Parts: sequence; structure tokens; C-alpha cells
Amino acid sequence: MSFVKITEKAIIFDIQRSSLYDGPGIRTTVFLKGCPLNCLWCHNPEATDGNRQLSFHIEKCTFCGKCEDVCVNRVHQLTDGIHAIDFSQCLLCGKCVNACPSSALKIVGKWMTVDEVMQEVLADYDFYLNSGGGITISGGEPLWNLPFTLELLKRCKLVGVNTCVETSGFVSSLRFIEMLPYIDVLLFDYKMTGSAEYLKYTGVSNEVILNNLEIAHSQEVSIILRCPVIPGINDTDQHFEGILAIDRKFPNLKGIELLPYHRMGNSKRLGIGIEETLVSLETVPVELSIKWIERLNELGCSKVKLGVG
Ligand code: SF4
Ligand code: SF4
Repeated sequence: MSFVKITEKAIIFDIQRSSLYDGPGIRTTVFLKGCPLNCLWCHNPEATDGNRQLSFHIEKCTFCGKCEDVCVNRVHQLTDGIHAIDFSQCLLCGKCVNACPSSALKIVGKWMTVDEVMQEVLADYDFYLNSGGGITISGGEPLWNLPFTLELLKRCKLVGVNTCVETSGFVSSLRFIEMLPYIDVLLFDYKMTGSAEYLKYTGVSNEVILNNLEIAHSQEVSIILRCPVIPGINDTDQHFEGILAIDRKFPNLKGIELLPYHRMGNSKRLGIGIEETLVSLETVPVELSIKWIERLNELGCSKVKLGVG
């Protein structure tokens, strides 16, 4: 009788090596596809859908028409200088991607096993040792794919790689607790203050999220709170006081990072066939971000610094 080793798989949409902003030291950040939230300002909209997707980069397109020629499903239609794409008809065969001479088309997301991801992560092992870095598992929502993320975390701990998980916290508490022993640093999002506001802007309410933050804190996990700040939505004293209240309630927070809004997500949205959001909102200038930090300092929140999200 032979036994087949079952290896967990996930759809990974990116692996970024030498990352300096996703936790301590030099890190490799692994981005999983699939997220239960739908934040209006999401800067990784290609991570929301849990499936592989066609993406189009109009700035690279020379309108040569080769994609239209090879696609039997008539997904691409070029007329009068317009390249229309019916994403709903795409079967992800990849023919147009291969035919495009300008790399304007891509399939976002690739099935990978834990072994395959580990191979990439371990390539920078020496950098982790020298810098105090390691792996960061992000997404999407990495805790949404529990078997894969848990296995990846366990494998990292086995070989001494520092582990960091970036999460919205929106996952069942039972699943969350299972992960905690294998997480060195938790990058925990705090997006809005108030349950109704959370629901309105992210698509989910915050009870489970706050409960999980409480659990992680009580188990003495090292937590960095990450707070996206979006002008006109949550750049208010009410929200800043909410951040302060979290800081006071959980005194062992290792830090609080403000993540000012940037527009990058919108061009990615169009490229995967979904509508833009916050159309008239510009990327936040540094001066404004500094004012927010000063305001939080005035209110009494001293742990806060500028992050990169
Ligand atoms: S991936 Fe295949 S089905 Fe999808 S647009 Fe390209 S050629 Fe058509
Ligand atoms: S093959 Fe590439 S460059 Fe040519 S029209 Fe299609 S997307 Fe544009």
C-alpha cells in the first residue's frame, strides 16, 4: 500500500521578497487570494475574489488585436480605439496572455502548494536571520484559508522562520485561536470605529473582529494595529478617539501604524473589470498624514507612526 502525502494548496497572487513594511526586518510577503470583506478603499482588489482572474493593463496595450484573434469566447473586442473586455466570458485558458506581445494581459493568481511557497520563502533565510525578518502572510484574508495558512505557519516555525500574519480579524474565533501559537507578530487591521460604520464601509460588522483582537491580546501575541485612514470617511476625531480607546484597552500593543489612502487600487479595479470606487479621492499627501499623527498624539496616543499599506 502506498500513501500519498496531501499537501495544502492556495491561490497565491503575489510573493514579494525583500519587503520592509510588512513587519520587522526583511521579509517575504505571501499574498493569498480571497477575502470576505469588501472595503471601499481596498488597494489589493485583485485579492478579493478567491479565484484566478484575467487582468488587463491598458497602459501597455498597443491595440494590435492579437488577443481578439485567439480568443474563441470573444472576450476581447477592439473597435474605434477601444479595447472592450467581457471578463464574465473568460475561461482563463491563457491563450490571449501568451499571444499578447506587450504583456498587457495576465492571469492573476496561481495555485501553489505549501512546499512551493516554502521554497521561495527559504531562499532569503539568511536575510531573515540578519535582520530579524521572516515571512508575512497577507492577502486577501490569509486566515480565510485556514488549512493552507496553518500548515505554512507550522512549517516556518519548524525551520525557525519568524512569522507575521496580516489580518482583518474577520474569522471565526475558533479558527483564530488555532493559529495564534504559530504567529510571532500579528498585523491586525482596525478600519472603522463603530459597528454600523464597519458594516457600511467594509461589508462586515466588527464584533468578531474586536473579540479576536481581545483574544490575541490576552494570549500575549505581539500585535501591531494597522489603521487605513481615508479622507472623508474615517479621518475624524471620533475614529481617532476610537484608535486611542483601543490603545488604552490593549496596553501591550507593540505599535499603531496609520496607512493613508492611495489611489493605486482604482486602476487595478478597472483592469479586472470592476467599477472604480472613491473616484474623486486623491492619494493622501505626506503633510496630511503627519497632521493625523499629530492629532493622535494630541489626543494622547503616542505609539502611532506612519506605515505603508
Ligand atoms: S484567457 Fe482565454 S478565454 Fe480568457 S480572454 Fe484570454 S483567450 Fe479568452
Ligand atoms: S494582444 Fe495585447 S497589446 Fe494586443 S490588443 Fe490585446 S492586450 Fe493589447
